[in-house]
Amino acid sequence: MAIPFGIIETLAKEHDSFYVYSEAEIEKSISALKRCFTGADILYSIKCNPNKNVLNAVFSRGLGADAASAAEVFAAREAGVSPKDIFYSAPGKSDGDIISTLHECVLIADSLDEVSRIDALLQARSERMNIGLRINPNFTFASDNGAASKFGTDESDTIAFLRENPCRNARISGIHIHLKSQETDAEVLARYYKNVLALARRIADEFGPLEYVNMGSGIGVQYTDAAASLDLDVLGAATAGEYAALNARYPSTRLIIETGRYAVCKSGIYISRVMGRKMSHGKTYIILKNTLNAFMRPALARMIFKYCNECSPAGSEPLFSGADAFEFIAPYPERPCETVTLAGNLCTACDTMAEDITLPRVERGDIVLITNAGSYAAALSPMQFSSQGAVPEIFITKDGKVI
Ligand SMILES: *Cc1c(COP(=O)(O)O)cnc(C)c1O
Repeated sequence: MAIPFGIIETLAKEHDSFYVYSEAEIEKSISALKRCFTGADILYSIKCNPNKNVLNAVFSRGLGADAASAAEVFAAREAGVSPKDIFYSAPGKSDGDIISTLHECVLIADSLDEVSRIDALLQARSERMNIGLRINPNFTFASDNGAASKFGTDESDTIAFLRENPCRNARISGIHIHLKSQETDAEVLARYYKNVLALARRIADEFGPLEYVNMGSGIGVQYTDAAASLDLDVLGAATAGEYAALNARYPSTRLIIETGRYAVCKSGIYISRVMGRKMSHGKTYIILKNTLNAFMRPALARMIFKYCNECSPAGSEPLFSGADAFEFIAPYPERPCETVTLAGNLCTACDTMAEDITLPRVERGDIVLITNAGSYAAALSPMQFSSQGAVPEIFITKDGKVI
């Protein structure tokens, strides 16, 4: 485990439930990414964990920002990221979102309608600006045909628009593509990058060099020991030549990849106190503090797994990463094991994180640890539900300082 158990034990004396994030683990993941993507800049997707200390840890290591809202643009600015390294890409931006971030980031329009709207806003302000466009390409991770999407502009419409070139003050100078998260097959990812770069080259050949090609994410993490693990060395080796080829033709074009989870997922652990035990019809329930409300995904995974008759449905990121994407640890290896159901203190039966799992026996006052809590965990949980309030997020620096 990334965080020494002694630190967790000490913190658990003060808090019934809390997150801990490890800077050392964030550093390890970012180093691995940098080794793999030597020819590309890396953006951190703030939405997966916007904790201030996490942002500082990530951005102080030279990553740029993938912002999903105006507030995330400002969070990145506050963490010291310069506007040219903040890419704001999201559907449904308001005029206020656009105007307030115009000079704080690189704006990526999500639709042609938005391009026209940005153009009109710029005309009204007598400004000219380069912007990016998110494209929905004629391929997916699984096929050489495109698929309908709420994101981006279909490739054919994009090309037609660029040919028509109707904008006066906004110029499309970069492209963004992001189709899928949590892919652990290096060859599938490599084929995807190759397709993105081929499209970038076709666009650049017809319309002139692009400032940047943001290839999006897809980089998967290994949620459990049994799950497949993405081999970053294989991915790095398979893509280096592709980057070099585009860069040889267009030396000024910046290649970019994005990731949220790979940078921070493994850095986080959620800790929850055992508030009580009970038996019902032969089943042992462990009642934990702040589960569904503070770390929603394990309970959601449990619910989906149940509704599909215990099959193993494909992930639906980031809400559902699979039936088995977390490890539950009772840190008392010397005790005898028992079969338990982990439920929470909310007044809903949905508040169940794990059913009939084997753990060392826990008593009221003990703690249970849940792994993979660094991404889409605190940020994705309904902490207002049943008026429980937010749980603390504690950051452990590389030299062991507790913030
Ligand atoms: C959420 C998101 C990401 C990050 O996805 P991860 O699976 O956490 O790496 C990257 N790009 C875009 C456009 C996103 O919306």
